[in-house]
Amino acid sequence: MGSLEAAVNRAIIYSDPPTSATQIVELPIEKPGPGQVLVRLFYSGVCHTDLGFCSNSFGLPNPAPKGQVGGHEGVGEVVEQGPGVTTPAIGAKVGVKYAADACLNCDNCLVGGETSCPSVKVSGYYTPGTFQQYVVSSATYLTPIPDGIDLAGAGPLMCGGITVYTALKRAGTRFGDWVLVSGAGGGLGHLAIQYAKAIGAQVIALDHGSKKSFCEELGADAFVDFTKFETDEELKEEVWKISKSGVKTVLCCVSGNRAYEQSMDFLGFRGTLVCLGVPPAGGLGASLASRVNAMIMSELTIFAIKSGNRQDAKECLDIAARGLVKTHYKLRGMDELTAIFHEMEEGTISGRVVIDLR
Ligand SMILES: [Zn+2]
Ligand SMILES: [Zn+2]
Repeated sequence: MGSLEAAVNRAIIYSDPPTSATQIVELPIEKPGPGQVLVRLFYSGVCHTDLGFCSNSFGLPNPAPKGQVGGHEGVGEVVEQGPGVTTPAIGAKVGVKYAADACLNCDNCLVGGETSCPSVKVSGYYTPGTFQQYVVSSATYLTPIPDGIDLAGAGPLMCGGITVYTALKRAGTRFGDWVLVSGAGGGLGHLAIQYAKAIGAQVIALDHGSKKSFCEELGADAFVDFTKFETDEELKEEVWKISKSGVKTVLCCVSGNRAYEQSMDFLGFRGTLVCLGVPPAGGLGASLASRVNAMIMSELTIFAIKSGNRQDAKECLDIAARGLVKTHYKLRGMDELTAIFHEMEEGTISGRVVIDLR
């Protein structure tokens, strides 16, 4: 890899937001300050939230600025410690999550809601992210990567994996429960199938027919092709036929309003909808209000997960390191991010894309 002095930091920036234009530039390699380490990143997964930040499809009042380095699914190695830092050690393999840093002392942090810390630093959104070769990061907030895990595959676990694992954990999904994964062949979905199977759940994978064999190979007990149904009512009937009494947990990994509408229909008594895909600006408002009656009748729960905390990350990685979950990814070049964003918009990607930063 050569000496640090000779190295440059190649980075992908959002060159013309809110378009999905990106550009590779050379940035200086920063020195880690007190409490920080410098990480040489090898891989970064590409998450829909990156596309959302770049194109501002979330309708954020403060869209990502021109020149933003995106990315929050980074994996690499510690190459330099800031003053006073002893861990992680030089050479330690570490991951960078959606939250690049949090205060760890506020009310939200103290109950494990680090991603909702008022002073959270979001990797790839006003904080330089993981679409670059070097990143300075908080030593305490990095995630240690366990031995025996495929490093490129660990990238997407840093957001996608943690998010779906935390969703199942907080939903209280138990052995034998039916879990329906909407968007099952995608980045989040394909990990959700595997984490659900790892904890003993039965899985209905819902996606376009082109993802059927992929989802079945991942362990889905049943596959439902949503394009095969004329009406939402027929789709609901199919899901109820498979699950007998409706599903216990729906993980909605897609962002369309209609997918959320359908998700509610799949839930049996005391079922739980976990919102993961971020709907476009304008969102769900009225349609959700119209569901309250049905929610009361079946005592349903709806909650959402942004991403997990350090403990969730550790558990999620441990399960993967034991071989129970494998990220399916395509390794792509740094010059392909814009093309990747377009493919994400078209929904043509199976599994996750990982950018090779080496
Ligand atoms: Zn993400
Ligand atoms: Zn905090």
